[in-house]
Amino acid sequence: MSTDNILTAEDVIQGASKYLPEKDVDFVQRAYHYAENAHREQFRKSGEPYINHPIQVASILVELEMDPATVSCGFLHDVVEDTNVTIEDLEDEFNAEVAMLVDGVTKLGKIKYKSKEAQQAENHRKMFVAMAKDIRVILIKLADRLHNMRTLKHLPPPKQRRIANETLEIFAPIAHRLGISTIKWELEDTALRYLNPQQYYRIVNLMKQKRNEREYYIHDVVDEIHQQLNDVNIQAEISGRPKHLYSIYRKMVMQNKQFNEIYDLLAVRVIVNSIKDCYAVLGIIHTCWKPMPGRFKDYIAMPKPNLYQSLHTTVIGPKGDPLEVQIRTKDMHEIAEFGIAAHWAYKEDKQLDKKRSFEDKLTWFREILEWQNDTHDAEEFMETLKMDLFSDMVYVFTPKGDVLELPSGSVPIDFAYRIHTEIGNQTIGSKVNGKMEPLDYQLKTGDIVEIMTSKHSYGPSRDWLKITKTSQAKNKIKQFFKKQQREENIAKGKEQIEKELNQLNVDLKEVLTPENLRKVGEKFNFNNEEDMYAAVGYQGITAAQIATRLADKVKKQKKTQDFEKALEEVKQEVGSRKKPKADSGVKVKGVDNLLIRLSKCCNPVPGDEIVGYITKGRGVSVHRADCPNVKTDEIQGRLLEVEWEGAGSDSKQFSVDIEISGYDRHGLLNEVLQVINETKTSITAVTGKSDQKQMATINITIMIHNISHLRKIVDRVKQIPDVYTVRRKIQ
Ligand code: MN
Repeated sequence: MSTDNILTAEDVIQGASKYLPEKDVDFVQRAYHYAENAHREQFRKSGEPYINHPIQVASILVELEMDPATVSCGFLHDVVEDTNVTIEDLEDEFNAEVAMLVDGVTKLGKIKYKSKEAQQAENHRKMFVAMAKDIRVILIKLADRLHNMRTLKHLPPPKQRRIANETLEIFAPIAHRLGISTIKWELEDTALRYLNPQQYYRIVNLMKQKRNEREYYIHDVVDEIHQQLNDVNIQAEISGRPKHLYSIYRKMVMQNKQFNEIYDLLAVRVIVNSIKDCYAVLGIIHTCWKPMPGRFKDYIAMPKPNLYQSLHTTVIGPKGDPLEVQIRTKDMHEIAEFGIAAHWAYKEDKQLDKKRSFEDKLTWFREILEWQNDTHDAEEFMETLKMDLFSDMVYVFTPKGDVLELPSGSVPIDFAYRIHTEIGNQTIGSKVNGKMEPLDYQLKTGDIVEIMTSKHSYGPSRDWLKITKTSQAKNKIKQFFKKQQREENIAKGKEQIEKELNQLNVDLKEVLTPENLRKVGEKFNFNNEEDMYAAVGYQGITAAQIATRLADKVKKQKKTQDFEKALEEVKQEVGSRKKPKADSGVKVKGVDNLLIRLSKCCNPVPGDEIVGYITKGRGVSVHRADCPNVKTDEIQGRLLEVEWEGAGSDSKQFSVDIEISGYDRHGLLNEVLQVINETKTSITAVTGKSDQKQMATINITIMIHNISHLRKIVDRVKQIPDVYTVRRKIQ
């Protein structure tokens, strides 16, 4: 693109006449005169007449060979914004197409850019494209921005930097995605000049120093290729490929490389007439110089998403340095330089189906913008094209100027939840573009949305689930209700547990202590007591389970208390008597005069290990320690330590049941009785029976003095022939 000379309107009209028919040139000329008239008396910061700016913008569009409406719009693009002319005036004077294009450019001009982060810049770019109903609006806007960048020196430095930054973040990437390399490069290089002048001029100087040396070498390479191609009759334009300042700068910064490492890379471009020739040239170059592995890229078979097509290869050049070669047809080159603008370029035979394909192209390019950054593979790209995501988005502003991307159909509630959950939950109303709008208002790209909140709001309504579009908002609303329900569940759970505890006859105050709740909660693997209550509330666990466990400890304490009470009663009862009723031969440790009974079930005898427990109103019952009847929880809680008074004596006898089993032969019972009698032991009861297998069972109750007395008897009985076992019985 020519940057130096300021063109006159006549130059531009003449340029247009090179590719437009006469009637269209007249149309464009009329647009110029109209604009010139409207901007008369207006001047730019540089002091020149304002109309110079629209003329240069139109000239850029002519260079892109745009259609008459677009070129006219180059002249007219600022009249609505800066003069009294209205869109309606333009429609009357020209046509609806021109009016629509100028309207689009004017609206885009109203977007205020404020980017702090990459995502914001990306959203701005998308919004920019989404707002432009016609892709030509973007081309005009890019031409406008390009000329503004060319004349940036007339603005004060802070404004220069702001505009340069905006250009780098918003406009250059859009130009890139539309494949308009020429505009992209110029925008980037100019922006760099204002954003980092030191680096910019350093690179400019370094390039100057190297220029001669490079040009000489490139000349040799180009000559060599020319000769080779002449031999096989292929016509080609061969040139050294220009390097762009900003791309050198970026590589130096991003890849931390020295200028030489980047600039010294040699690159040539070969432009031929046909695709067949492209591959032929590639073959010839690969026979001249050795190709570097992994560097060949066929963007002809697999075009880049922005429609770029070319063959790329790197070979070891004549001096042993890497030499980059790009090979493409003239058409491909046009697209490489002008991208989408090349597709839009005015061609008479295209006019017919233009309207029909217009929308298709627009949608398609919007998708390209969306996906180009993320996809590298052409096949994948074609896949993603089908998904048609981009047109489903709206871009809206916060009052502070941030852009949010939302699915189309989103309402202010979606917006509110995107900003913050609390803002969503406290939303009571919304203003869109300064005007109150209902919460189900469908947001449009470019809307400025303000959410009104109240701390006293009761939170979202269930209807919100129906009107919101984003899953984010829906999830947050559901969460709110879940939380609210949780609170209900906690209350319900608590109530149920208390009811259960009342039935267990325990004091709630004693049971529901923080410590007890924590311990029981831990037992059931709850994080805290609220979780435990909530679980009961939604019936994840029964109230009875929790209540029993909660009451456990208190009940145990209560048991101890009951026991002490009973013990006291027994003491009092005993204390009221003059003498103990009978001497059991057992005493309770540390307590005198208790009523003590030896249990009938296990018949303890002196020498047996024994335990005692307090019965209700019947004193202390003494059992053998191994008696199954004292193994119950009930009794284990009321056990007392007891001991024998002495090892027993001849004067006192204890009743013991023993069971003898053996072969049921004649005289066995007599022999048993005889052996016991021989020990001078009284027998108080005898029973005997035998079963069909001739096993005899004899139960004898005997009176003994102590455990050694009993052992003696048992030993004797066991010596009787045909006696198999002797055991002490427990009822
Ligand atoms: Mn302008």
